[in-house]
Amino acid sequence: MSSTVLEKANAFAQAPYDVLALRQDFPILDRKVHGKPLVYLDNAATSQTPRQVIDVFSDYYSRCNANIHRGLHTLADEATAAFEGTRHKVRAFLNAEDARQIIFTRGTTEAINLVAQTWGRTHLGAGDEVLISLLEHHSNIVPWQLLAAERGFTIKVIPVDDSGALDMQAYRELLNERTRLVAVNHVSNALGTINPVKEMAALAHQQGALILVDGAQATPHQAVDVQAIDADFYAFSGHKVYGPTGVGVLYGKKALLEAMPPWQGGGEMIKTVSFDAGTTFAGIPHKFEAGTPAIAEVIALGRALEWLEEVGVGAIGQWEHVLLEHATHAVSSIDGLRILGTAPDKAGVLSFVVDGAHSQDIGLLIDQLGVAIRTGHHCAQPLLHHFGVDATCRASFAAYNTLDEVDTFVDALNRVIGMVR
Ligand code: PLP
Repeated sequence: MSSTVLEKANAFAQAPYDVLALRQDFPILDRKVHGKPLVYLDNAATSQTPRQVIDVFSDYYSRCNANIHRGLHTLADEATAAFEGTRHKVRAFLNAEDARQIIFTRGTTEAINLVAQTWGRTHLGAGDEVLISLLEHHSNIVPWQLLAAERGFTIKVIPVDDSGALDMQAYRELLNERTRLVAVNHVSNALGTINPVKEMAALAHQQGALILVDGAQATPHQAVDVQAIDADFYAFSGHKVYGPTGVGVLYGKKALLEAMPPWQGGGEMIKTVSFDAGTTFAGIPHKFEAGTPAIAEVIALGRALEWLEEVGVGAIGQWEHVLLEHATHAVSSIDGLRILGTAPDKAGVLSFVVDGAHSQDIGLLIDQLGVAIRTGHHCAQPLLHHFGVDATCRASFAAYNTLDEVDTFVDALNRVIGMVR
C-alpha cells in the first residue's frame, strides 16, 4: 500500500467515517458467493441497499399501503404524505428551488426520455443541433437518435482526449447558434471521468442552448447543487444512491417544465376530462406523473437520501477516492493490464483490459472467487470503440467497500489472469 494511501486511510480511521460500522447497515454484505465472502465491486451498475431502506418496504406494506393523492381515508393520507415527503427530500438533496420541480420517473433513462419526448419533440427540428458527448451512456444517446430520426435535427458529439476527459476546446467550437441542447453526463459510468458541468452549462447558456445533465453516476459520490450548476434538467436513479430500483428523478427549471406538454396520459395528471370540452392538465409535477407511481419505492428513496446525508456524500466520495487510488496503484503492476480512463478528475471507477485475457472470462472466473465486477460495454459502445475495445472489466466502489476488499480483488484478479493466459 503506498504511503499516501495509508495516510489518507488513517485520516479516515480518525474521522467519523467508519466503514466497518457502516457495513453493518448492509445485510447483503454478509452473504457468501461460491463459498467466499462477497466482495461487491459493481456499484456503478447498482449499489447495495441499507437495512434502513429495506425496512421502509416492510413498514409501508404492513402499515399504510394505499393509493395516493385522491383518497380521503387515513391510509391514503399517510401514504401521500410519505410520498410527497420524498419530493421535499429530493428538493433539498439537489438544492432545487421548489419541490414541484422534482418529477418522479422509473430512473435516469425514463427521465431523459421524458425530456426528449416533451421538450425535445416541441423544440427540436431540422437545422437544430443537439450536443452530446462520447462519454454518454446509451440512455443519453438513443432517446436523441430516436427523436432525431423523426424530427430531422443533427446530433454532434464532443470528443474526449486519451485520458477520457472531455475535449473542452472542441466543445467550445462545436457550440453554435444552432445548438439547442447539450446533454452530458456529470460522471461517466464507463471511465469515471467527472465532467465540468457548471462550466459547460455557462458555455451552453451563452449560446442560448439548454443543458441536461445525467447525474446517475454523480449523485452517489458528490453533493449536487442544480442551482449552482445552473442545470436546466438533471436526472438520477434511485438504485445507484443506495435506494430501490424502479424509481428515479427528473429535475427541471420551473418555467421549462410548466411550458412542456404532458408526456403520458392517464389518471393523476389531469385537472378535468371531458368528451366535449377536451382535457385540461394538472400543474407540475403531477402533469408528468400519469398513473399510480412506485409509491413504496419513492418513499424508500427518501430514506436512502437521508442515509446518504447521515453518512455524508462528501465523505463517501473521499473514501471512494482512497479506494480508487489504492486499486489503481495495485493493478498498475499487473503485466499487460491497461487502465481506460485516467482523467485527473475521476470518481471511483476502475475500467481496464488485460492483454491475452478476455474481459468476460475474467468476470466469470473472478465471480468464482466471490468478487463481483462488471464486464462488457457498460452501455457505452461508442466510447469503448473509440478506445479500440469491445469490452472492459470495471470495478466500481461504494461507501461500504474496504481496502481489504480491494486487496482481495487484486489477488483474485492476479489468480484469474494466471488461469486464462
Ligand atoms: N446514465 C448513466 C451515466 C448510467 O451509469 C446509467 C446506468 O448505469 C444510466 C444513465 C441509466 O440509469 P437507469 O438504468 O437507472 O435508468
